Amino acid sequence: MSNFDYDFFVIGAGSGGVRAARVAAERGARVAIAEEDKVGGTCVLRGCVPKKLFVTAAHFAEAFEDSVGFGWTVNGLHFDWPRLRDNVLNDVEWLSGIYIRNLERSGATLFRSRAVLEDRHTVRLLAENRTVTAATILIATGGRPVRDPLIPGTEHALTSNDMFHLERLPKRMLVIGGGYIAVEFAGVFNAFGVDTTLLYRGEEILRGFDGDVRKTVRAGIQHRGITVRCGDTLAGIEKTGNAFVATTKGGEEIEADLILSAIGRHPNTEGMGLDRAGVALDINGAVTVDQYLRTNVDNIYAVGDVTNRIQLTPVAIREGMAVVETVFGGRPTSVDYADIPTAVFSQPEIGTVGLTEEKALALYPSIDIYKTTFKPLPNRIAGREERMLMKLVVDAETGRVLGCHVVGPHAGEMAQLLGIAVKMKATKADFDATVALHPTMAEEFVTIHTPTERHRRQPAE
Ligand code: FAD
Ligand code: NDP
Repeated sequence: MSNFDYDFFVIGAGSGGVRAARVAAERGARVAIAEEDKVGGTCVLRGCVPKKLFVTAAHFAEAFEDSVGFGWTVNGLHFDWPRLRDNVLNDVEWLSGIYIRNLERSGATLFRSRAVLEDRHTVRLLAENRTVTAATILIATGGRPVRDPLIPGTEHALTSNDMFHLERLPKRMLVIGGGYIAVEFAGVFNAFGVDTTLLYRGEEILRGFDGDVRKTVRAGIQHRGITVRCGDTLAGIEKTGNAFVATTKGGEEIEADLILSAIGRHPNTEGMGLDRAGVALDINGAVTVDQYLRTNVDNIYAVGDVTNRIQLTPVAIREGMAVVETVFGGRPTSVDYADIPTAVFSQPEIGTVGLTEEKALALYPSIDIYKTTFKPLPNRIAGREERMLMKLVVDAETGRVLGCHVVGPHAGEMAQLLGIAVKMKATKADFDATVALHPTMAEEFVTIHTPTERHRRQPAE
């Protein structure tokens, strides 16, 4: 046993920190974890969980519309925002309690305090004004949403954190950004009846996703009534009475009752004493780590959003577990970041794993694309014209499926399972050998037999 107060001190009780603390304590290490806010972090309190509950609420809008063709008469529809908001806030409060109980059960000590570093082994607990020491320290402090400081009036914009607490729904909302949060929140609030405009600086929303996926989602959200303005961005915000006027760099003026800034997140590294401990940051203020999530100070590790790489809950969790395995399991463990499935819970929803067509074309000389769009069975009776997109990106030389992309109902659920096949390096022949499950939408993935496009890079002369 070391002379330190703890074997392992975790700063931040979010997705990555809680998992690392629990697993280390269950292995017998003397563990403490500090949290300055509620326990659970972004995902539980102001991210994945409450967001997905909002998305579920939003889906009812379409379900009620679709139900008419199936014989239902729905009278007196009314959406009660305060009821949803309060039910969701109560639910995440409950979940936070579960996190606390699981930590306690594991034997880890929870400090409800901001924690900062005094040196490479000493942590100051600000709420208790005392220090404790630890052999190994894990920084799992996550990130926070940003507003562009160069935009005059930027302080009038809200961030995703605020959207879970709105007193009332706005009539008109302007969303700045074209990434996950912009598209998800625009979809949710549009479904609640808010007149929604999305302003994105690039040519097409959702940079980094497959080109067909981006086009399909843009068409889908526009079809649902969201105004999408690409190729322009915010220049300033002015308050006018109870509303705001946003001016764009292109010279347009957009009036809104609420402006949501969804332009990315910044790692929580300021004022943490990382300099006193000698921990190096990159130019964006993120903690830099090696393949084992170790910082340049060899007893200090960092996981999750504070490293500003892949900002997803399962990644933070996996990284937390890898650190525990490295430090307490005696087995240096790194995380495999290839082929991580992801979903955007927009309407229509995206599910994706592996390479986009664009990325595959850059990396492989011979690519076959299998693409289909079709009207899901219920849409015919519902009178919904929308088509679903499914796409496979295949290495024509080996037959390996490099990427799977879905836009439509349950796309996220499909991507999770397709992720297993892609991770196992399944080939198109494996997909073909799988008997379809009928009638489902996912069966299209095992029944698209002929490539819709064949790309062959000519060898250089
Ligand atoms: P966090 O969960 O942010 O935890 C960090 C914790 O550290 C916080 O509780 C913070 O209060 C605490 N802290 C910070 N500084 C200190 C300090 N000095 N002392 C003590 N405590 C401190 N990911 C998905 O996979 N799927 C989704 O659907 C999804 N939806 C999202 C929706 C939104 C709106 C947002 C914002 C994010 C979403 N994410 C989603 C991303 C996901 O929430 C994050 O990737 C994940 O929470 C990161 O976990 P973490 O442990 O790194 O940090
Ligand atoms: P994203 O990185 O996804 O998107 C940021 C968007 O803002 C991009 O469209 C970007 O444009 C734009 N942008 C960046 N800077 C500016 C600026 N100065 N002015 C105008 N536009 C700007 O970040 P989000 O905030 O949407 O989400 C943060 C992360 O949280 C995501 O990356 C994701 O990892 C995670 N998340 C995951 C979810 C899920 O799994 N379903 C849901 C929500 C969040 P450009 O593309 O041109 O750079």
